[in-house]
Amino acid sequence: MARILIIEDESDIRELISFNLEMSGFEVFTARDGEEGIELLNDNPVDLIILDLMLPGIDGFQVCKYLKKDPDTRNIPVIMLTARSEDDDIVYGLEIGADDYITKPFSPRILIARVQTALRKSSSDEGSKKASRIVLHNLMIDPGRHETLLDGDVVDLSATEFSILKFLAENPGWVFSRNQIIDSVKGEDYPVTARSVDVQILGIRRKLGDSGSMIETVRGIGYRMKGE
Ligand code: CA
Repeated sequence: MARILIIEDESDIRELISFNLEMSGFEVFTARDGEEGIELLNDNPVDLIILDLMLPGIDGFQVCKYLKKDPDTRNIPVIMLTARSEDDDIVYGLEIGADDYITKPFSPRILIARVQTALRKSSSDEGSKKASRIVLHNLMIDPGRHETLLDGDVVDLSATEFSILKFLAENPGWVFSRNQIIDSVKGEDYPVTARSVDVQILGIRRKLGDSGSMIETVRGIGYRMKGE
């Protein structure tokens, strides 16, 4: 059963949404303003947030920005509630990371349909994100985000370094020649030559610090990522 947080100061709208979501089988949490909503999220992880933009105290935009910055909450889909169909508000909301919006007044059936769509999309996004991640030794490589984490900390790799590391990590234990490595990263930001593969590998190892030794030199052949 999906858990949904409603952040809305107007009690009649809050109750209307809450009632309809509960009737559709969702577990519902409610908050009357942004602070209360954020507070509530600390102890109650939810699957989706319905966020009114016009709130007392910090407004819905600020709440959305805050949620999208925090790694614990940034993947939770947010549906904005807007009082007017102000294009500027909607565009701005989507730019700062909201997933969808509903203009008041709205029909409960539309709201439920939007909630279900956002939840479906979010679970398929999560699935594909997780599937493409490479976890090896103390490394986590996330091609979707173009991000490499070493023991949870971001490693600042160039695009070419990232591609080479990803290629090696996708095939742990396999030895690749410099030319194979070049082929795997063609079209990236750097004209890669056999010699520059060595330079790139050096760069990657340096940035991985003590863990750099997971990329092994195989004399006379090339490089490999240490196997599991
Ligand atoms: Ca309001």
